[in-house]
Amino acid sequence: MRSAFQSPIGLLRVGFSKATHMRTPVICGNWKMHKDAAGTASFFESFRTLVDRSENCEVVICPSFLNLETAIRATRGTRIQVGAQNLCWATEGAFTGEVSGPMIRALGCSHAIVGHSERRKYFGETNESVLEKTVAAIDAGLTPIVCVGEHEKKNAGKALMEQFRYAIDALSDEQFARIVIAYEPVWAIGTGETATPKTAAAAHLLIRGQAKDSFGKEAANNVRILYGGSVKPDNAKSLMAQPGIDGLLVGGASLDPVSFGAIVNLSTCQASRTSSMSYAKSRVIERG
Ligand code: PEP
Repeated sequence: MRSAFQSPIGLLRVGFSKATHMRTPVICGNWKMHKDAAGTASFFESFRTLVDRSENCEVVICPSFLNLETAIRATRGTRIQVGAQNLCWATEGAFTGEVSGPMIRALGCSHAIVGHSERRKYFGETNESVLEKTVAAIDAGLTPIVCVGEHEKKNAGKALMEQFRYAIDALSDEQFARIVIAYEPVWAIGTGETATPKTAAAAHLLIRGQAKDSFGKEAANNVRILYGGSVKPDNAKSLMAQPGIDGLLVGGASLDPVSFGAIVNLSTCQASRTSSMSYAKSRVIERG
């Protein structure tokens, strides 16, 4: 069934279809430049037991490079996975200060965040380098969590589509099937201002629509799209209740085992339902 949809992000009018589909949610914590080895070990001591029944979702924590090994050791025998916050686009060579995908994979990591807005803002990452790093992560056997998100609420749809076009579109079908996308509106990261569930859902719909245009209906149905931006225990459940939101990328609230444990467990409750998936149709009309 097709119907008109007026996006709460204020930019787009799209048609969408509905289908029922099951995607395993991913709840990922991004610790940024926080915690030393002792803090990492003590986090997992509490966190492990708090989430040992969260079977309906994948749980991933991304500490700093220095603490990946401690995290891998602390999560052995659990369902918690460990990811890096970045990687180099090259596998090895004269790249001082860089860490490659194969090095990260060899430690036992499963994921790598790529193109986080803080990397784009402070370290000059571009859509082009995001694409290269995404491919490098896939080649190394890691799941890239590819971040996209507008800086300003105004023209959000246009900014998102541009990032998709330059950072994701050039992937092959096989590569696209290996990625997770994170929608992170920059204005919501670390600000305490979360996108409303409706606004986030509209952006996810738009991204999924673009995925359908570029990679086909099945690929769009299968790709997991996470929301990130000031997620806390008190808003996680309503965000995860949106059919197109397949998980969360959590910064500040992932540093505390109790608060991140609550987010994981709330999301697990939501995940136990079969999600009714919507995807945006190809035609996207700017509203002026
Ligand atoms: C992030 O770092 O990706 C993030 C969403 O941070 P926060 O949850 O603190 O806004």
